[in-house]
Amino acid sequence: MLVFLLLCFLLLSGCSTPTNQEVSQDRVPAARIVLTGGTLIDGTGRGPIENVTVVISGDRIEEVLTGDTRSYESEPNTQVIEVDGKFLLPGFIDGHVHYLGWAAPLYLTHGITSVLDLGNWTPWILAQRFAVANDLVPGPRIFTSAGQIDSPPGTFPHSINASTEEEAREIVREHVQRGVDYIKAYTMIRPELLKAIIEEARAADLVVRGHITVSAREAALFGIASLEHMSGIAIATIDDPETLQEVEDRRTEPEYVMATVRELAPLMNPELFDDLIEVMVKQGTALSPTLVSWWMGVHPHTQEYEEQDRSFLQDPRLSFIPEVSRQSIVGRYARSIRDRSDPKFQLGYAKSQKFIRAFLEAGGTVIASSDTTLGAMPGMDLHRELELLVDSGLSPLQALQAATRNPAQLIGQGHDLGTIESGKLADLIVIGGDPLQDIRNTQKIEMVIKGGKVLEVGYDSPFLDMIPRPLTADYLSRFSVDD
Ligand SMILES: [Zn+2]
Repeated sequence: MLVFLLLCFLLLSGCSTPTNQEVSQDRVPAARIVLTGGTLIDGTGRGPIENVTVVISGDRIEEVLTGDTRSYESEPNTQVIEVDGKFLLPGFIDGHVHYLGWAAPLYLTHGITSVLDLGNWTPWILAQRFAVANDLVPGPRIFTSAGQIDSPPGTFPHSINASTEEEAREIVREHVQRGVDYIKAYTMIRPELLKAIIEEARAADLVVRGHITVSAREAALFGIASLEHMSGIAIATIDDPETLQEVEDRRTEPEYVMATVRELAPLMNPELFDDLIEVMVKQGTALSPTLVSWWMGVHPHTQEYEEQDRSFLQDPRLSFIPEVSRQSIVGRYARSIRDRSDPKFQLGYAKSQKFIRAFLEAGGTVIASSDTTLGAMPGMDLHRELELLVDSGLSPLQALQAATRNPAQLIGQGHDLGTIESGKLADLIVIGGDPLQDIRNTQKIEMVIKGGKVLEVGYDSPFLDMIPRPLTADYLSRFSVDD
């Protein structure tokens, strides 16, 4: 009943809701936790540090010490946890999801303590963020753009559509009023509207992230913070005027705009990469490749991931995953069958990897994101993205930063999240293998601490999403498994 009333309140009032930061300040401090003996990979970019002691007080990291010989056992109100032989990392941040309430245990069990939601039903995601921040429901910290800003007819039912620059500015102001954490611009937005959105967001000190059909060069110069799915890169590096004209002409066709990421990538001219990369690095434009979702069927791990997912979904403890999602998760492999042997997509993927490598070498910032939505595997897909980023040229240390420090800094949360340093929120994980030797060791999650609390993770407790997320027939039809 409480949550029902809360949801009604949010729906009816349209009021601004407390942010994660405001809520966390009200928390009652927990007992002190001391983690000793592990190897620290702190997310700052430093190499691993052996034999560290991390002291957590309340919801914050109090101290990080090396070679500390003090005994904490006899100190009052202190829980000492030996982590010899284990690795301590910041809690993972999935840089791009479309949050689903039932997915909470999957995120947490996979060590993901924050998610950056990039497009959702506005009242629902704000209610969910509030509920998680107040411990009414379990879940990772939620940061959200709420509904993505698009143009008519709109790519998805939860898009909020603007036809003019003034309408776009008004939507940004309304989002700011409701307390969003950043803004998401979507596929049908024209360049002049994107520019207006970025200007208006900047006035409220918010960044704009985009899945766009605007040239990445233009978007970077406007000041976009991140290019989702590497969208806009192809448009900036194709030298065929007819293809570029087609993008302009067909920007209002949902199926077309959604296909551009994959269809246009093979046409990229790598000789044009360096010029674009120079602009992006200078402007601080981050890249969020989402290879796991957008190149499923093309990347070489597809069959392995399919076998894992099919087996995982057999687990009776996961009965809380709705049938429609199960069908969509398995359906993504069926949908990608025809792409597996298509040389066009293999070329597009290889060029995308080449771009990522060149971007990284030039000092660009990469964000690890799963783009988890109805047809993806929450939690596990972020670990897969790390593997694909390492395949694409990131060192394991860089891949770990892409899932910790980089997304935190991208959305202006670097002061609280993303690294293990004194004064920051105590979101950290303990893993049972060296991720610098093999990035797949990130999957060996042994302990998850969020806000200074050791969480009970796993799937043994029944889980119920207390705030059902609305779904429309139109939305579901886009994830049909009948092809
Ligand atoms: Zn997305």
